[in-house]
Amino acid sequence: MNVRLTFSIIFIALSMALAVCGLIAFRSRKGIGVPLGRMLFCLIPPVVGNLLIICSTAKLPATIGCYLYYVGIDFTVFSVLRYTLAYCYIPWKNNRFRVFVLSVLGLDVVQLLTNLFFGHAFSLECIQLYGQPYYRMIPYFPQQLHRLLVYSVLGAVLVILFLKMRHSSRINANRYGVIFFTMLAIIVWATFYVFSRTPLDRSMIGYAVFGLMAFYFSLYYKPFMLLNRIMMDISAELPDALFFFDDAGNCIWLNTEGRKLVNVQGQDLSGVEARLKPFLEKGQGADHWAAQMESEGDGGRKHYVLEKRTIRDNRGYVDGSFLNIRDDTEAQQKLMQETYRARHDELTGLYTRTWLYKRIQDKLTESAGMLQSLVFINVSNFKLINDIFGIEFGNSVLRRIADVLRGFTPAGGVYGRLGGDNFGVLVPSAGFDGNGLESQLTSFTVNAGDIDYHVLIHMGVYEVTDASLEVSVMFDRARIAASSLRNDYHTHIAWYDDRMRVNMLWEQQISGDLHCALSEKQIVPYLQPLVDASGKVVGAEALVRWNHPEHGFLPPGKFIPIFEQNGMIAEVDRYMWRCACEQLAQWRDNDLFISVNISPKDFYFMDVVAEIQGLVKEYGVNPARLRLEITESVMISDVENKIRMLDGLRQAGFIVEMDDFGSGYSSLNMLKNMPIDVIKIDMVFLRSSEQDEKSMMILRNIINMSTDLNIVPLTEGVETEKQYADLSGMGCKLFQGYYFAKPMSVADFQAQYVDAA
Ligand code: C2E
Ligand code: CA
Ligand code: CA
Repeated sequence: MNVRLTFSIIFIALSMALAVCGLIAFRSRKGIGVPLGRMLFCLIPPVVGNLLIICSTAKLPATIGCYLYYVGIDFTVFSVLRYTLAYCYIPWKNNRFRVFVLSVLGLDVVQLLTNLFFGHAFSLECIQLYGQPYYRMIPYFPQQLHRLLVYSVLGAVLVILFLKMRHSSRINANRYGVIFFTMLAIIVWATFYVFSRTPLDRSMIGYAVFGLMAFYFSLYYKPFMLLNRIMMDISAELPDALFFFDDAGNCIWLNTEGRKLVNVQGQDLSGVEARLKPFLEKGQGADHWAAQMESEGDGGRKHYVLEKRTIRDNRGYVDGSFLNIRDDTEAQQKLMQETYRARHDELTGLYTRTWLYKRIQDKLTESAGMLQSLVFINVSNFKLINDIFGIEFGNSVLRRIADVLRGFTPAGGVYGRLGGDNFGVLVPSAGFDGNGLESQLTSFTVNAGDIDYHVLIHMGVYEVTDASLEVSVMFDRARIAASSLRNDYHTHIAWYDDRMRVNMLWEQQISGDLHCALSEKQIVPYLQPLVDASGKVVGAEALVRWNHPEHGFLPPGKFIPIFEQNGMIAEVDRYMWRCACEQLAQWRDNDLFISVNISPKDFYFMDVVAEIQGLVKEYGVNPARLRLEITESVMISDVENKIRMLDGLRQAGFIVEMDDFGSGYSSLNMLKNMPIDVIKIDMVFLRSSEQDEKSMMILRNIINMSTDLNIVPLTEGVETEKQYADLSGMGCKLFQGYYFAKPMSVADFQAQYVDAA
């Protein structure tokens, strides 16, 4: 084939390839893209120039080709230099050097172009080649300078690449070596043409190939050896044990952890598969599987997490596989510890509430049909223990209780700490010895230095008759049973029955209703007349009544004990005292008195003296007309202070009465100590008086003694004429009872005893 045609095709193809690659390079987002693209485009003019020289049979196109070629080479070498610096990651920042290189190359371009006018650098001669004219260049001195310049720049490029190659790792040196040697080959090739003056210079093919190689190495070359090396390094040091197998399942590589696991050193991996057998069996030949396993070894029980993957090519043939084994023992132990911590109370080591609920739920499901008892245990005076003896001591009490529960609970039972001073137990009712537990927990004293302190413990038991209830609801019931004991020091265990819940609900409702009841005047005082020995009504006792919109007319027995329990009694009493004062203020024209009740609990919730004095002042009432009924239980605590208070009240002109004398633990001694004006003798003595001579004797003596002590005797619960006569005969001064009148509304009292008088 025609040589010229062949070259034309090759050169055109190379030019097009350079152009396409140049465009791709410009578009690439890599930093090297722009210098690379410039270099590829700069290579096109010399290639085209060379093509013109080779193909020209006339002088003009050959001349144009020559200029394109030589001037293009100047641009090319500059762009090669720029590209090389970028390729070797050397910043091109020395501005002077850059100006120098550019100026010299610029001068050379000028020098070459002016050859058009002066013909000083080169000229063309026509020779015959394959029977056709061929134009060959005759160089002069300036053209030699041009060559020198081009060689210098290319030499610099070679030096840069060489140095970079020398100072890189073996793996990375490849990428510089390839460019270096290609460049070297091109220089040798081009030099051959220069000195031999062989027509048809083909060395431009080398430049173009260099450009395309640079394109590949800059943008697409992936250093697989490097990747491989890095992957190996990473895998070798991974904390998991890794094993790689070939398609036949032979181990071809394993990392450090893997070696430790199967105890293999050196290059001989023949025994590995056999040692991995217990692990590999887990997968049963699947392509990809994950599993966990435990194994007993020298270092104790181990927990492993396994994963195996088989890698197949796109036709489905196995390439190889790998197995990953992670020693999860530590994490597993930590998890177990954490679980233990979450389920066990730190202080006592018993189950926490949440976990106890769960365990109880499970137990109830497991043993369906078997009657179980759920016990709620509460330390009644725990706050006191903490306050008096300190938290550390309180903690030791809780630990002691935990020990009792451990010893007490039979097999099949569960127990735990519900929080604070509350514990919970579930035991089969058949094996539950309530009295046994009661005696263990109630003989419970703790020793603090030289005092033994009795810990008051109350227990509520709910027999699980309805196992579908939430465990928390069951405990609520057991708690209700326990709280029915409240301040009881003698009984320590109570069994829940539904009445307790009804009571509880009643208490909650009635307490919730109180505020509204007071503001809407559902609560009112009733008055019961008090009579003297001549039968004259001298005053009245104010007794509370509640006209409940839902539950009707409520006597105090239905709500007073509840409010005494929760402290709301103070609000009721304050209200009653105010009503009494209001009434006394209206009764300016007579000298009737009103007795009001003061609950012992009032003293905990307010300053009783200040309250009462404030009221009489507010209404302008003579204190002697507001009588104060106090029960002897007031004197249970803080006696001296109470005596001082009562004295203060008496000095302020109030008349203080001791209520319900004889109903409780009254001692005659009390009469001596309590500063009182009137003693209200309880109706118990009258209830039995008909049959019982002894009671009559006691009554007579109480009346006598109080008269001696200057205390006015008053008998409550007088129901018959005979009682009235007898008591009068004994010297009793004041009387109250159904015989005279039942408690009545203020309006009725007004009509019968005030307006009628
Ligand atoms: P108490 O202070 O001993 O009041 C006397 C109770 O005996 C009244 O019952 C009265 O109705 C009743 N009674 C009077 N005469 C007779 C009689 O001849 N035979 C019988 N069987 N009973 C008679 P009530 O009104 O139900 O009050 C019961 C208790 O409630 C009172 O006993 C008192 O402890 C308490 N209470 C009533 N009102 C108040 C109040 O405003 N504040 C406080 N803190 N407690 C009150
Ligand atoms: Ca009373
Ligand atoms: Ca009474």
